[in-house]
Amino acid sequence: MSYLGCHVGLSAPKYYVGTVEEALSYDADTFMFYTGAPQNTRRKDLSELRIEEGRALLSKHGIDESKIVVHAPYIINLGNKDKPETFDLAKSFLIQELRRTSGFGASKLVLHPGSHVGHDERHGMESLLLGLEEVCAHDGTDVTICLETMAGKGSEIGVSFDFLAEFIARFPFADRIGVCLDTCHVHDAGYDVLDADALLKEFDRVLGLDRLKVVHLNDSKNPRGAHKDRHENLGIGHIGFEALHWFVIHPALEEKPIILETPWVGEKPPYKKEIAMLRSGAYEADWREHL
Ligand code: FE
Ligand code: FE
Ligand code: ZN
Repeated sequence: MSYLGCHVGLSAPKYYVGTVEEALSYDADTFMFYTGAPQNTRRKDLSELRIEEGRALLSKHGIDESKIVVHAPYIINLGNKDKPETFDLAKSFLIQELRRTSGFGASKLVLHPGSHVGHDERHGMESLLLGLEEVCAHDGTDVTICLETMAGKGSEIGVSFDFLAEFIARFPFADRIGVCLDTCHVHDAGYDVLDADALLKEFDRVLGLDRLKVVHLNDSKNPRGAHKDRHENLGIGHIGFEALHWFVIHPALEEKPIILETPWVGEKPPYKKEIAMLRSGAYEADWREHL
């Protein structure tokens, strides 16, 4: 059984203590969070975030810190290098996020490869190579940057395993790079996720399973290949519970963190129930009505 968790918050007044408590309340044994608002660059200093207390709580509950994941803010775009000021800002903000990730005691940062915005995938590849090389030369951490597989919405890059494999093959700091496989995104990108085993074999063939550091487990509101990126609760979307459950019990993912990014149901977080169903393997068709 893999490590199971979900996206959790980080907010005043409890900060990291609250983050850990939220994860524990869902019976999660891992989790993912943003170190600040994902849509802006304002960041509270680490000294204000109650990190040591949060880490003490983790160790008290036996949560393995090496499974914890930070998500980089999605305003960072290294896929287009046209405007030097914007590109520089993205690089320096990412350097800061890598240092913050390390400051939380975490070792994995999930990053969207970016968008080429008006160019093509080739331009996106060259931009990302250039941008991340400068970041890795200067951040001074050993945090693994986990490039997320994208749905192909708009001008997103990093949609195919082949793109990520080419990036890694050409990147001078390849030992710093991992991959985050998002089931909704790869489904929307056109891969068949209904057969987890075949998908993971394909991943292994192109990228090698050692590169797989994080799985984002989400159902999708749209059919395969739709390039939309709209997450759905487990069992409600076009992937279905059974197919998603295969990832949780697959031997190749035993040691990897699996993170839910499914939507809240009205005012209620679905994660405790979704995690319980994944652990038991038993799906309840009307589970959202009993949260
Ligand atoms: Fe993401
Ligand atoms: Fe994701
Ligand atoms: Zn998504």
